[in-house]
Amino acid sequence: MDGFDMMDSGTDGPIVTIRKADAMHADFVLSNVDLAFANSIRRIILAEVPTLAIDLVEVIANSSVLPDELLSHRLGLIPLESSNIDEKMLYTRDCDCDGYCERCSVVLTLVAKCTGDQNVTVYARDLAVAAGAQLGNPVLSDEAGKGSIICKLRKGQELNLKCIAKKGIAKEHAKWQPCAAVSFEYDPHNKLKHVDYWYETDAKTEWPKSANAPWEEPPAENEPFDFSAVPTKFYIDVETVGSLQPDEVLRQGIKYLQEKLATVIAGVNKTAGAGAGGANGGGDVNGMDQDGYGGARSPDMGDANGYRNFNDGYVTPYGGAGGGGAGAQTPFGGYGGGGYSNGWP
Ligand SMILES: [Zn+2]
Repeated sequence: MDGFDMMDSGTDGPIVTIRKADAMHADFVLSNVDLAFANSIRRIILAEVPTLAIDLVEVIANSSVLPDELLSHRLGLIPLESSNIDEKMLYTRDCDCDGYCERCSVVLTLVAKCTGDQNVTVYARDLAVAAGAQLGNPVLSDEAGKGSIICKLRKGQELNLKCIAKKGIAKEHAKWQPCAAVSFEYDPHNKLKHVDYWYETDAKTEWPKSANAPWEEPPAENEPFDFSAVPTKFYIDVETVGSLQPDEVLRQGIKYLQEKLATVIAGVNKTAGAGAGGANGGGDVNGMDQDGYGGARSPDMGDANGYRNFNDGYVTPYGGAGGGGAGAQTPFGGYGGGGYSNGWP
């Protein structure tokens, strides 16, 4: 997964150095980018890369000790094989079926019964998808290949469930998260003084060195503080839950970041082109019109309306149904209101 193209900036663009990688794990150093970009990547791979997860459970029989709701919750959290889901599957909300169909869902069945005196343990591997299907298979990453425990059955108890797995993103529910953890560090020697260490007498001896410290030059004794220094090297460790490989998570993350930025740029251009007033429908728009600026620039955070402007100013892919703004096109609207629409602009 080396050398993927994050920006079209040739040799001046981002540099990725992979330190360790396997099927569920990627540890790399990202350099030649700014903090905002590196952090955007982190946030987008945590929350906006789609995967598959059980979203609907039809309970035909459940005489186990777990209530239906608890069982459904546990089933939802089981990682399911989701490779290339982006091309292979639609969001149910974008599909024209009623309920669900094979273009927007995968059906898994779980049938288990305890007939003997020995208790039966039901594992994730007992979830069955259609024969031959790859997409939707439970991820079994433990040595025994059983997956996580769903529940236990004693004599006479049974489970018969039909589970509908759908495509979704973690911003909607954490069960769609492709990553279990994304660690992120920069400036391991704290040269930039972004971290204020608590200490008894001497921070240097009391705090252990970061594992990333050998990757950067330690500051010289009495080195003067560099006010213009900015972080340029980021140590990122992506650990997935197994539904997607780390390289796919990153590729998808970059793709979604580009789409979001394109939408922002389109929205800003549209607003700028519309002149002063209410292209956004929300009354006072991004502040840029009031100031007579034609082109794109950051919202004014300082004025009385600063924060509102920020909330009202962008058009996001999820923007339409957002609760924040007055108009149909609220920048960041989808985040604010927690609402998701299928309204890609
Ligand atoms: Zn459908």
